[in-house]
This record gives sequence, structure tokens and C-alpha cells, in this order.
Amino acid sequence: MQQLTLNDGHKIPTLGFGTYKLTGPEGIESVASAISKGYSLIDTAAVYENEETVGKGIKASGVVREHLFITTKLWRENLGYESTLVEFENSLKRLDLDYIDLYLIHWPANAKNYDNWQKTNADTWKAMEKLQADGKIKSIGVSNFFQEHLEVLFQTANVLPSVNQIEFHPGYWQQELVQYCKNQNITVESWSPLARGKVFGNDVLEKIAKKHHKTVAQVCLKWIIQHQVIVIPKSKSPKRIEENSNLFDFKLTPTEMNSIDALPQMGFSGELPNMWPDKKNS
Ligand code: NDP
Repeated sequence: MQQLTLNDGHKIPTLGFGTYKLTGPEGIESVASAISKGYSLIDTAAVYENEETVGKGIKASGVVREHLFITTKLWRENLGYESTLVEFENSLKRLDLDYIDLYLIHWPANAKNYDNWQKTNADTWKAMEKLQADGKIKSIGVSNFFQEHLEVLFQTANVLPSVNQIEFHPGYWQQELVQYCKNQNITVESWSPLARGKVFGNDVLEKIAKKHHKTVAQVCLKWIIQHQVIVIPKSKSPKRIEENSNLFDFKLTPTEMNSIDALPQMGFSGELPNMWPDKKNS
């Protein structure tokens, strides 16, 4: 499996498995099935209420812990120094693991929710740095941070975020933010790489897929990987889990990359870091 090297020296697989909405026995089977098909990165979050499920899926796979890369996330209602330490231990317990490969701040604090969002993010980050120094987390990162959130975080951070996980798929790929992260040596990870299904039916994507004898899903995922961005598609179907992992036997041409880059906006989730709590985010 292809890997990228994070700014802290740890390696991250370019393909991972998303688990939003995967719960119960189906969730356990899906996680175990993904691992058996070669996925080693598994992405969960406290707010998905499936960390126990993911932990059971990992055990059911029989694969040794050291060969896996597990990500979970701190929910935005629990930001702050002390609560980060507490919430991290809760996640670890639910996953039944003794360390996490990548721990992310799921959404930054914003002015609607915290009197001093800058300090809240700084305090949260300090706790993440402590957990990393204590050996409980290998890499620490953020999710849904805009440039303005990162710039403020840099003023107090001792450790640079290794990853920023953001919405990124054909039709909505936050090009400027991605370039900013790359300039800062922060690896970008794409959430909703298939725009939760809204990329299907697009003529440009279908034409490219046909030419390569691949599916539209595979073309979208490959386009993301060729941008040096990590993908974490979610599926509950063993067939689609396998399909989404068969990405390494073809390459998109520069012209094809450009034509996907240029697609008009489609599939945007409507989720932005500064608007909650008006809308339920994942
Ligand atoms: P995705 O873009 O991965 O799309 C998932 C949907 O696409 C499901 O309905 C799935 O259906 C379908 N699908 C998957 N593969 C195929 C295929 N090959 N052909 C046709 N349909 C397919 O959406 P997610 O929102 O789940 O994003 C992926 C992961 O990113 C999440 O699971 C989560 O881990 C993370 N995430 C993080 C966020 C954050 O704020 N940090 C926000 C949102 C997601 P089916 O299951 O039936 O196959």
C-alpha cells in the first residue's frame, strides 16, 4: 500500500477506510472486511459513536495492531485542555487500544461557541502535544481548519499539525487551503471523497472512467491520491470496499487531472467550521 511521510516522520497510508454511519454488527464486519482487503488506515471519531464497533472490527480482522493506522477525533463540544485529556482516554477505552496513530481536533472552536476561540484551540492543542509526548498518540492533527485557524494556532503551537482533514472531492476541493497546507508541510486528507455519492452521473467523470475501464468512484479516489491527498472512502458493501481499493494499476493523465480540477461546484456538504451549532456536522 502506498504511503506518504508526515511532517513528524511517521508514515500514513494514502488509502484508508471511512466509518461514518457504520455501527453494530454491520460496522464490525465492514471494518474487518476492509482490513482483510488491504486497508490499514481506519478513520473514526468520538461523535460517530462507533469507536467500540471499530475496535471490535480491528480485533475480528486478526491483523496485528502495529500494522494498522488508527485515526480518531475529538468532538468540538469537548475542546479545552482538561476535557481533551479526558475525552482522549474515553476514545482509547472505547477502541480498546493502548495508543492512537493520529488524533484530530474534529472542528475548530468558533466565536459562536467559545468566548475566546483562539485560546480554546491553543489549550486543546497543548493537551494534544502532551498526549503525544506521553507516547499515547503518534501524530496529532486537525480537521476542518481554515487558514485563519491554522495561522492563530501556529502562534502558540510547539508541534505543527501533521494533517488537516477537510472536505475534498471533484466539484469541491478547497484548492487555496490545500496549497496553503502543502506550503506549511501539512498533509491534506480528504473527507467525503465521493461527496457521499453526489459525484455519480457526471459526464466528464464517466468518460474518463470508461477510458480506463474503471468506475467513477475509482477515478475520483485516484484523482485525489494524484493530488498527494489521503482518501478515506466509506462503504458498507464488501464489493465496493474492494472496488475502492483497486486504484494502483492505472494513472490519470495531466489533461484528465485538469479536466476534473475544473469541474463546476457539485456535492458540497454545506458544512463550514464557522457556522455550527446551526447545523449538525460530522
Ligand atoms: P464518502 O464520500 O466516502 O461516500 C460514502 C457513500 O458513497 C456511501 O453512501 C457509500 O454507500 C457510497 N459508496 C462508497 N463507495 C462506493 C462505490 N464504489 N460506488 C458507489 N457508491 C459508493 O462519504 P463519507 O462522508 O462517509 O466520507 C468518508 C469518511 O470521511 C467518513 O466515513 C468519515 O470517516 C470521514 N469524514 C470526516 C469528516 C470530518 O469532519 N472530519 C466529515 C465527513 C466524513 P455504501 O456504504 O452503501 O457502499
